[in-house]
Amino acid sequence: MDLRKYIRDIPDFPEKGIIFRDITPLLRNPEAFKLAIDELSRKVENLDFDLIVAPEARGFIFGGALSYKLNKGFIPVRKPGKLPFTVISEKYLLEYGTAELQMHVDAIEKGQKVIIFDDVLATGGTAKALKSLVEKSGGEVVAMVFLIELTYLNPRNILANENIISLIEL
Ligand code: IMP
Repeated sequence: MDLRKYIRDIPDFPEKGIIFRDITPLLRNPEAFKLAIDELSRKVENLDFDLIVAPEARGFIFGGALSYKLNKGFIPVRKPGKLPFTVISEKYLLEYGTAELQMHVDAIEKGQKVIIFDDVLATGGTAKALKSLVEKSGGEVVAMVFLIELTYLNPRNILANENIISLIEL
């Protein structure tokens, strides 16, 4: 099964000139979704880590399933104003605009090993912000894991020295 067949290109979303990779066809197909989780899981199952940190909203879908399958804790990272307890924040640049992400201040204990997960690695700005949140908490990022890496945006340039693992390169 070729998972690329379940990723739909939406031109000019959310802004003119951006091709948005829509993963909802993959999610609605149980075999494709299962294969994606199983293959992502295989790529990280031998790593030593405690937690999976993932941003809303699509990061929750895959990150949650991966956490369950690998028996790891899940840490949600959200847009401002959504998390109920005390938060730490990180502002960052997006492929389209600026943004801010928040995580609970006590989500990660000092020294815990963390995998960052997101559905799409585009410019790498989000992944870099996630890493800052983890490190502000005293955690250690052992890998950054993605369903899709948009190689033509050269995200590895700003993520030098990271252990980047992606399932599908576009
Ligand atoms: P980056 O910060 O530029 O690497 O963008 C990654 C973030 O934007 C991730 O949270 C993605 O979910 C989202 N994103 C960027 N481009 C796409 C896309 O083409 N499809 C789906 N999500 C995207």
